[in-house]
Amino acid sequence: MIVHFIKCEDYQAVEKKLLPVLEGYSSLFSPGEKVLVKPNLLSARKPEEAVATHPKVVEVVLRFLKDLGIFPYVGDSPAYGSLQKVLQVSGIWEVCQKLSVPAVELNEPVEVDGQRYKKIRISSKVFDFDKVVNVAKLKTHSQMVLTLAVKNLFGCVPGIEKSGWHIRCETNENFAALLVDICLIVNPVLSIVDGVEGMEGNGPANGKKKKFGVIVVSSNPFALDHAICLRLNVDPFLVYTVRESIARGLVKDYSIDGDWSSSIELPVTVPSLPVKGPLRQIARMIVRVPKISKKECIRCKICEEKCPAKAIDLSRSDIDYKKCIRCYVCHEVCPRGAIELVRRIFI
Ligand code: SF4
Ligand code: SF4
Repeated sequence: MIVHFIKCEDYQAVEKKLLPVLEGYSSLFSPGEKVLVKPNLLSARKPEEAVATHPKVVEVVLRFLKDLGIFPYVGDSPAYGSLQKVLQVSGIWEVCQKLSVPAVELNEPVEVDGQRYKKIRISSKVFDFDKVVNVAKLKTHSQMVLTLAVKNLFGCVPGIEKSGWHIRCETNENFAALLVDICLIVNPVLSIVDGVEGMEGNGPANGKKKKFGVIVVSSNPFALDHAICLRLNVDPFLVYTVRESIARGLVKDYSIDGDWSSSIELPVTVPSLPVKGPLRQIARMIVRVPKISKKECIRCKICEEKCPAKAIDLSRSDIDYKKCIRCYVCHEVCPRGAIELVRRIFI
């Protein structure tokens, strides 16, 4: 198994750099198959904001599949906003129109059992396809530390079903176990991470854009995520999904093709203290919590609506920290970056 690191300084060069590597995976597909291409379509942000997978990367993947006689579809269930709107703003709608590729909203859930979690409600549409190609984005994530190939498949859970999982899982470790379960169920045959431009700091939506100059490809999403951590000089055990993948023996031996490496500023939420046993209460006092900036907030109410713990009261611009489970969904969905992540002790 190989993890390919393809240096790519700008999106104009994607076709030239990525296509030859994809062609090495042609034997994974058979003409006439229906393939779901799953980008990261977190929310309606423009390509230059580096929140969603760049349309150029999606375009090259779709062209590659079409040239093999495949019927590709682009599908996701965004964290908020309609799929149509997110596709349009992200530039992927135009690509779909140009290539006559249908878009499919990943809704209509069915219950599927994972290794750890039972009755995971995943879009039934995922199972209508012969194969899935996972086209993720290289970004930090305030809850999971990084969002790469494995985390991207949480988009196969319909939007309305997502928030309940933050409550059910309770801890970041459990949430990572859910994400690994979903990745195993969806079982993408190929994963591609767009890191030409990505995000560092407090991602996945309101961090700092960073040019990493890389696209990463592998048939194994667990090895891919692990390899990216090492090349970013990030301890794989810090990234919850990678730690869980290692614990389950999913990061098999792999070889590397390509010599890319870089660095990344991690979110301020990365724990610096042990959070088990009697120290847990102390850690909770100094862990980062969300705080609404009254100056930046436009009172769109998205955070209040999406908060799984119902901890946000916008009538008072207030967050109930007794209810808050530190999932940082509010920070992720805020379209204005109006949620700061501050130490509770300073509030
Ligand atoms: S999502 Fe952001 S802008 Fe909208 S109400 Fe919440 S804090 Fe304010
Ligand atoms: S306030 Fe924000 S971090 Fe706290 S539970 Fe709600 S969405 Fe999660």
